[in-house]
Amino acid sequence: YQPLAEIDPEIQNIIDKETWRQFTGLELIASENLTSLATMQANGSILTNKYSEGLPNARYYGGNEYIDELEILCRKRALQAFNLDPAKWGVNVQPYSGSTANFAALTALIQPNDRLMGLGLPDGGHLTHGYYTAKKKMTASSIYFQSLPYGITPETNLIDYVGLASQAKIFKPRLVICGASAYPRDWDYAELKKIATKEGAWLMADIAHTSGLIAAQELHNPFEYCDVVTTTTHKTLRGPRAGLIFFRKDLQDAADLEKRVNDAVFPACQGGPHNNTIAAIATSLLQVSQPEFKQYAKQVIANARTLGEALVSHGYKLQTGGTDNHLVLWDLRPLGLTGSKVEKVCDLMGITINKNAVSGDASAQVPGGIRLGTSALTSRNMQEEDIKVVAGFLHRAVQLSLLLQKEAGSKLLKDFVRVATVAEEGKQGHLQV
Ligand code: PLP
Repeated sequence: YQPLAEIDPEIQNIIDKETWRQFTGLELIASENLTSLATMQANGSILTNKYSEGLPNARYYGGNEYIDELEILCRKRALQAFNLDPAKWGVNVQPYSGSTANFAALTALIQPNDRLMGLGLPDGGHLTHGYYTAKKKMTASSIYFQSLPYGITPETNLIDYVGLASQAKIFKPRLVICGASAYPRDWDYAELKKIATKEGAWLMADIAHTSGLIAAQELHNPFEYCDVVTTTTHKTLRGPRAGLIFFRKDLQDAADLEKRVNDAVFPACQGGPHNNTIAAIATSLLQVSQPEFKQYAKQVIANARTLGEALVSHGYKLQTGGTDNHLVLWDLRPLGLTGSKVEKVCDLMGITINKNAVSGDASAQVPGGIRLGTSALTSRNMQEEDIKVVAGFLHRAVQLSLLLQKEAGSKLLKDFVRVATVAEEGKQGHLQV
């Protein structure tokens, strides 16, 4: 039990640099957050040593009495965090990530080559919701299933429920997936349920991005209408990197659904659960159930609104004009800029953002916007006034990107922008633009 710094100073050094980057920079990536020390301690615990294929009280390995206790507690906390009645909902807490949770859910719900519909990637959907391009089926969800994307309406950039209904009528999907990676508005789950029921399809919500806000009851509740709900645990939920699959227990063939989901996770898609991660999920869910988390979720949304309003007040265009959740989609095309340019300039300023497609982009390879999220900054206790300052930095980054584009000089870029004069003491970074 020698410490990391002694055994492997090279890795310790990388961790130290990344710690410094995370704490001195401004983290605006919508899918990231800063998890608690308690969660990280559970994640880095001795539980990583244990194999426990199977489910509590039905394992393929001995020595699992404490691991069983852990998994049962984690399940209980997951249901509590989302206010779910254990008689009506069950949960599998073993998925290693959001992508594996989604693939396991598809494996549980439909057969190979069955049809599914998900929001198209260029409109904000996720790869695992059936994404493919004209050239290639590059995701397992499009290789093993037949998928058809639905979209957003060009006028409003809101989900086109009417279009989805008429596509579904012809395509006859066995599964409709809702949820997104880059959609700043809330979902109409009642309408989606109507469409899915009409075609005899399952309805699954992937709430990876918004699960923390849903747990805090700040957004519409997908559990009222969906058969299966998946989520990552590391975005607005502020836990470790992992996934969860919730399934209904009050359907006609409920026992069958529970077995299908559990069998799909193991042995269909995964091996032994990562027990250290399950402990960390449990710790973060305990925190989600506390009143402070509700306050946090409210502030995440208030901050995202403030960020959107501040950018609009600087004269910029947002997709859908604003936000209901934690993210803002900023359309840079009216300025003649690409998302990658601004992402690069922001990187040099210690502001972390990501380029993102905005609806109507000519090419998915050259996204015309950026996606911003307020979860991580809110975890650092930032409030509306702080966010206005951040919006000012972003404004300057865009103005600088425009100038650099005009000057067309990458040397100029390096000369103009330097994130940090790292002070000898305290390693304080100074933003100089
Ligand atoms: N689902 C959605 C909506 C996501 O946005 C993401 C990731 O960003 C995932 C699933 C996949 O999660 P993971 O990266 O943990 O596999």
